[in-house]
Amino acid sequence: MRLALFGPPGSGKGTQASILKDRHSLEHLSTGNMLRAARDAGTAVGLEAKRYLDQGELVPDGIVWKIAREALVECGFDDFVLDGFPRTLRQAEWLDRDIQRAGGGLKVISLEVSDNVILKRLSKRRIHRVTGEVYHLENNPPPDDVDPADLIQRADDKPQAVRLRLEVYERETAPIKDHYTRLGALIEVDGAGDVQTVAGRIAQALSS
Ligand code: AMP
Repeated sequence: MRLALFGPPGSGKGTQASILKDRHSLEHLSTGNMLRAARDAGTAVGLEAKRYLDQGELVPDGIVWKIAREALVECGFDDFVLDGFPRTLRQAEWLDRDIQRAGGGLKVISLEVSDNVILKRLSKRRIHRVTGEVYHLENNPPPDDVDPADLIQRADDKPQAVRLRLEVYERETAPIKDHYTRLGALIEVDGAGDVQTVAGRIAQALSS
């Protein structure tokens, strides 16, 4: 199974990718997680990516493709769910070329969510700095034994960065939808509502 989850920041790609990973035994390939890990580890790639990441801008295609491709090679270009990749037409074309060689059949699930819902979701998103667990202060609050001091807000979840990310999404990333629609690979799913409701819609769309 070859899947890519597509949608604006805060549309639930990471959460749904992790559910798909468990349900279908896939590798969850999140370029955002890979880039943040590289930044935090202080690698050469991470240092190059840092300022883009922190401001909510797209990391240059060449850097992202290098880490995404390495991860794809590692899973033999099969049984993966991409989360946050591709984000530009150039990345999509590079990915398509390799997927074609591997036998094709990429399905791109587009999570449809309005800007208002996104702003609400991201302003209250918090990450546990040790476990990486993602919480929402209202919809998915941390358990009582979690120390609030361990909960951090991603620099790019601050309102100014979120606005920039939404602009970047409209400009750079949204055109990919047309690309995959033309290829007959796009599956649109309503991304509003709670996690399990959206997961159910995705499961249904994949089985039909
Ligand atoms: P995410 O965790 O998917 O929201 O990604 C967080 C940030 O990582 C983005 O705002 C970008 O700075 C960077 N990033 C992740 N994936 C990509 C990609 N495919 N292309 C360019 N930048 C990316």
